[in-house]
Amino acid sequence: MIRKSVQNLEPYTPGEQPKISNIIKLNTNENAYPPSPRVAEVVRNFDFGRLNLYPDPLCTRIRELLAARIGCPFENIFVGNGSDEVLRLATYAFVEDDSSVGYFSPSYSLYPVLAAIRDVKGVALPLPSSADLPYALEGADLDKTPDLFFVANPNAPTSTFYPRAQMRRFCEKNPGVVLIDEAYAAFAEDNCAELALTMQNVVVCRTMSKAWSLAGIRLGYLFGPANLIEALYKIKDSYNVNRLTQEVAAAALSDPEWMTANRNKIVATRTRLAAELRELGWKCEDSATNFIWCVPPEPETAETAKAKLRRHGIVVRHFPGPATGDHLRITVGTDKQIDVLLEVLKKGDMQ
Ligand code: PMP
Repeated sequence: MIRKSVQNLEPYTPGEQPKISNIIKLNTNENAYPPSPRVAEVVRNFDFGRLNLYPDPLCTRIRELLAARIGCPFENIFVGNGSDEVLRLATYAFVEDDSSVGYFSPSYSLYPVLAAIRDVKGVALPLPSSADLPYALEGADLDKTPDLFFVANPNAPTSTFYPRAQMRRFCEKNPGVVLIDEAYAAFAEDNCAELALTMQNVVVCRTMSKAWSLAGIRLGYLFGPANLIEALYKIKDSYNVNRLTQEVAAAALSDPEWMTANRNKIVATRTRLAAELRELGWKCEDSATNFIWCVPPEPETAETAKAKLRRHGIVVRHFPGPATGDHLRITVGTDKQIDVLLEVLKKGDMQ
């Protein structure tokens, strides 16, 4: 009764959402700071009597606010129920049944799952260096290039960033759609918006889950050529973004200073955390995100360090497997949370 591709599907494993309070949660790259006070105001004044009505199917207000921020027409923006929904819709709008979805590895572990849900081949190429990025497809010896290629930039879980010029060259050499997933771009020095606004085959996807502190409301968006945006609108659920989410997101977007201030705090904490971890002998990638991708010093392993932190109420993320298993991914929390983490790592285990 169940389709073969679904029977065989290895579903995505979301990071743990522990039920215990008092935990220091540094495992799913949420923002450690609350959203703008304007959000609280909107929720307090929300007219619950209007919940009997469907929401705006086209997210008009959100698209107007985003259009002004991005500097593009309203028609070039698609809004979805978190960027995860937007990524999934892209596999339905842009990929033929006999084609494939491409992505680098390691990268966001949802990409292969989305290819499997769409029931097409997933093509995983080894994560190239910035210098090798433009040639990633040529070197791959594929019969046919994927109709859709996901590139997380900055990448997760490695926290690394491809400069725009290299991304442009990768996109130029790619006949299919390149979806640049900029979930973490607010924490980087640059982004690839310009590519989505000037190239025919490039779209950029962003989320309000990270920099805007709104993972709980589920709002993601994508911008790029109007014909690609129109294709997504044709296949989405009629009312894919609920009424409360639309109002909350609009309130947050009206207060970009709040987001920027939190972003700056996180970037400062990130610098301090990386420096202190390195002092303790950890190897850390230079991060362009709100998390650090790091390897503990021997004899500690990623597993033992994760377990030690857990005993002290700190949850971080470990991705088992040959390419990622020696690393931990630590979300940059508040300064206070990071102080506790560093204290535990410095003192060793004091059960
Ligand atoms: N892209 C990347 C690279 C991510 O790490 C995440 C967060 N898990 C997402 C997209 C999904 O974000 P959203 O909350 O908007 O679905």
